[in-house]
Amino acid sequence: MGIFIERPSLRAGTITCSATSDGMWRVDRFTGPPDAIEAVDGVFSDTGHCNECLGPGGCGVTREYETLGGDSTSRRIYTRRSALGNCHSVPYLAVERFGEGLAFDAERRDQQYEWRVLTDPDADVEAFTNTVEEGLRDGLEVGRRYAGEPIHW
Ligand SMILES: [Zn+2]
Repeated sequence: MGIFIERPSLRAGTITCSATSDGMWRVDRFTGPPDAIEAVDGVFSDTGHCNECLGPGGCGVTREYETLGGDSTSRRIYTRRSALGNCHSVPYLAVERFGEGLAFDAERRDQQYEWRVLTDPDADVEAFTNTVEEGLRDGLEVGRRYAGEPIHW
């Protein structure tokens, strides 16, 4: 998230995201000025750093990135991550709590990383949120909204 805080005009949104107990893959579109896109290239070529962990320290999840396209002010980046491991992140914790078959969408900008997760209406979202909060590193907090219907998708 550091590159978004340092470059407030940088935005990212998922084009698609899927997670199972075997791992996660996603394609994100980044937009911003050329210096921000160069920063994205640096962060999303470093397979030694987890871009998902919300907890302190890192995780043992294996990750790979591939730039699919873009220009000086945009990038489309594919990410593939290995099995759940100990990554304290929304998609991994959601699969752990609710099971597979969820729909994910995410946006990143400034100091916000907003996830939308379509779950069963009876899913215990409060317990899930508590699990996410329990492992946050200092300076992060979780907000929660119930859409009721997928109106924000
Ligand atoms: Zn992680």
